[in-house]
Amino acid sequence: MAQKGWNYIAGEWMPAADDLENRNPSDLSDVVGYYAQADARQLERALEVARDAQTEWGRSGLEQRYKALMAIGETLISRSAELGELLSREEGKPRAEGVGEVYRSGQFFTYFAAEVLRQMGDAADSVRESIEIDVRREPVGVVAVISPWNFPMATASWKIAPALAFGNAVVWKPANLTPASAVALTEIIAAQDLPKGLFNLVMGSGRALGQTLVESPRIDALTFTGSVEVGRGIAASAIGNLTKVQLEMGSKNALAVLDDADLETAVACALNGAFGGTGQKCTASSRLIVHEAVHDAFVEKLVTGAKALKVDHALSEGTQIGPVVSAQQLGANLNYIDLAKTEGCELLCGGERVERETEGYYMTPAVFANSANAMRVNREEMFAPIACVIKVGSYDEALATVNDTNFGLTSGIVTQSLARATHFRRNVRTGCVMVNLPTAGTDYHVPFGGRGDSSYGSREQGPYAVEFYTTVKTAYISAGLPE
Ligand code: NDP
Repeated sequence: MAQKGWNYIAGEWMPAADDLENRNPSDLSDVVGYYAQADARQLERALEVARDAQTEWGRSGLEQRYKALMAIGETLISRSAELGELLSREEGKPRAEGVGEVYRSGQFFTYFAAEVLRQMGDAADSVRESIEIDVRREPVGVVAVISPWNFPMATASWKIAPALAFGNAVVWKPANLTPASAVALTEIIAAQDLPKGLFNLVMGSGRALGQTLVESPRIDALTFTGSVEVGRGIAASAIGNLTKVQLEMGSKNALAVLDDADLETAVACALNGAFGGTGQKCTASSRLIVHEAVHDAFVEKLVTGAKALKVDHALSEGTQIGPVVSAQQLGANLNYIDLAKTEGCELLCGGERVERETEGYYMTPAVFANSANAMRVNREEMFAPIACVIKVGSYDEALATVNDTNFGLTSGIVTQSLARATHFRRNVRTGCVMVNLPTAGTDYHVPFGGRGDSSYGSREQGPYAVEFYTTVKTAYISAGLPE
């Protein structure tokens, strides 16, 4: 059934002059809903009320914040089956991944609920006599959250939860491809005891509404996840107002498979890392760097595994790969298939648009061999179910190839050698590194982020999130002597 979703501004649900139609990428005849597109005046209203609401929330008792975040988290967890289905319906990831994402979103809120109660400062004596120093964190203020469609609930939650936990107001512009998940999360947040206007949902196009938000001098901090190109533009706009910025962008993650690797583990890691979420993950391993001694055996098993993956409707039983998110993304993916062939790669399987019972954006997972690290398909983020194998002759060459990229979010190694795993872990230039595990798949209680073009600003998630969502105050106190 088609839903109608409105923006949530100043504690009220608000319609707009324009609605956006949201269709299911697994079944284009299925309209998920129509979603209000906020105008600049509504955005301005959200920013106006957020300021006062933040002052009130920043002074609120920690128990109130703890209870609100815990309730949001527990609701998400208890409703993960229902909301996961909605998420999969609009985004296209298999149902189990959608349900898992909503459950994980709940865990971000319950984790940061507990962080509310762990806010400690420092106390010091001054270098001057009879003066004490108190160092503590305060909310940064009004936080703009701009989130992508590939993890429509999890990415937003790992930003919104710490923002609220540390006493900030939020103005959230979700991706226009996934508004249903945004409205569902907002309904849960709106049901809590929060000051009116503390949390605002403004839906609209990134280039128009998002850009206006980014340029607003009314925001104190801006956290973004999406493409490098948009991230660069956002940083340039925000810096004009000296707005604090945090960016999580693309990557070109590599999985190194060494000559001593357990091949079953290596293939399982590659299939999961390259094709999970239809390859639409910033942690996806689209470069598979394989030692020549195991290259042929690995590739043979990988192709068998890729061909066996079931590509179908996200909500059908047994689907392992859903459709890609949009016609635009499908077109871009198929262009990369052509580019790989033009660059001289050998297509071993997949890479074709396919039809299923319902009309959708389906393509089969592709494996390319004979690729070189200098090729564009190994330099640019594709966000597609496409894996390119690069053959190397030694561990040193594998490490050098993994590091030869402008990005640096995640990396992985499959080896049975503790010495090589340790050396790799210490010398690879990525923010996250996986040993005998897929490059995708991270926890919620530890930092997440990368190097190079992948990230800008302080780390997200876990205790490290406090750095972005707070500012530090150093107080000097001369109490005098008692009479
Ligand atoms: P974008 O970077 O365009 O979108 C991410 C978010 O930013 C969306 O909410 C978008 O709005 C918004 N946005 C876009 N332009 C602006 C702007 N000028 N000012 C403020 N906000 C803006 O990614 P796409 O969705 O277009 O995907 C394109 C490619 O980006 C993918 O193929 C992939 O390579 C990469 N990507 C990487 C992600 C990651 O996790 N690293 C996540 C998503 C994409 P809206 O889309 O609603 O108009």
